[in-house]
Amino acid sequence: MLVVMKKDSTEQELAGVIRKLAQSGLNGHMSKGMERTVIGVVGQTYPELRDTLELLSGVDEVIPISKPYKLSSREFQPEGTVITVGDVVIGGDELTVIAGPCAAETEKQVLDTARAVKAAGANILRGGAFKPSTSPYQFRGLGKQGLEMLALARAETGLPFITEVLTPHDVELVAEYADILQIGARNMQNFNLLDEVGKGRKPVMLKRGMSATIQEWLLSAEYILSQGNRQLLLCERGIRTFETYTRNTLDISAIPIIKRLSHLPIIGDPSHGTGKWHLVTPLALAVVAAGADGLMIEVHPNPDQALKDGAQSLTFENFEQLMQQLAPVAASVGRRMPIKPEEEHGE
Ligand code: PEP
Ligand code: MN
Repeated sequence: MLVVMKKDSTEQELAGVIRKLAQSGLNGHMSKGMERTVIGVVGQTYPELRDTLELLSGVDEVIPISKPYKLSSREFQPEGTVITVGDVVIGGDELTVIAGPCAAETEKQVLDTARAVKAAGANILRGGAFKPSTSPYQFRGLGKQGLEMLALARAETGLPFITEVLTPHDVELVAEYADILQIGARNMQNFNLLDEVGKGRKPVMLKRGMSATIQEWLLSAEYILSQGNRQLLLCERGIRTFETYTRNTLDISAIPIIKRLSHLPIIGDPSHGTGKWHLVTPLALAVVAAGADGLMIEVHPNPDQALKDGAQSLTFENFEQLMQQLAPVAASVGRRMPIKPEEEHGE
């Protein structure tokens, strides 16, 4: 249920609505847009509630929402969510390009990659320190040591970084270092973890589960939003289909669907979405053409020797080429490319 306030409603009237909801054991989440203030009602509602709320002073109308997700819906917030991380604005007209290795392996590997992706125009660094692995015998990340490498690369290059958090217990530690917390595909329905990152105020990127429907994905987003954290972005990283040539099938249609249903920014990940480095660039172009707010790309100095996901990682050279090919596609859908370091200094 959405409570739409009158244009000239006062803070007291707003507080009156929230108080009324609290008396019924319900939570009110506010969205103050340019046009109107909307209160999203979360909890077990009942039919008479609509009439009760409509009679309150300052209330314009009460709209029932039939969808099970509410705070992530466009009805609740018509304007797109914009997230600011340092100098980077996610969800604006500039593309967000997140790039870096699958996993932090050595200080040199992280630093060299951070410098290369920055020079090519990426605006956020990625790297896993806590890695989910399908097999327990695979590399599972360097933990805190990996976080320190990423923090060093941030200090050297100025790039903010995103990294995955695997358990509720690790949220505090990872949030101390990272600029954005990543919830991986395998954890999309780890509800305790979603609650925990929802209680914090660090931006979160929620990846789509490999077998999750769009509705299930938005309901997971709802866990984070309903805990109070509104700094949330989504990432389409491919879903399981019958096709075995690719690691996953990148669901390009999810991009415009999310744009239609939700105000949350959406990033495409053609690296995990295909599993093959030679498919990353064409699918990256498709994701941007379909209206994504950004990309997440795995890049490694020597993909052949990568401890994780080498087959889908781009070399520095290939990443630079991707960025060059991306520029006209981004322009055609009204997006600016991130500003490269040399442009910044007017060289
Ligand atoms: C990753 O980004 O390195 C990762 C593990 O992704 P996903 O959760 O999409 O598999
Ligand atoms: Mn990976």
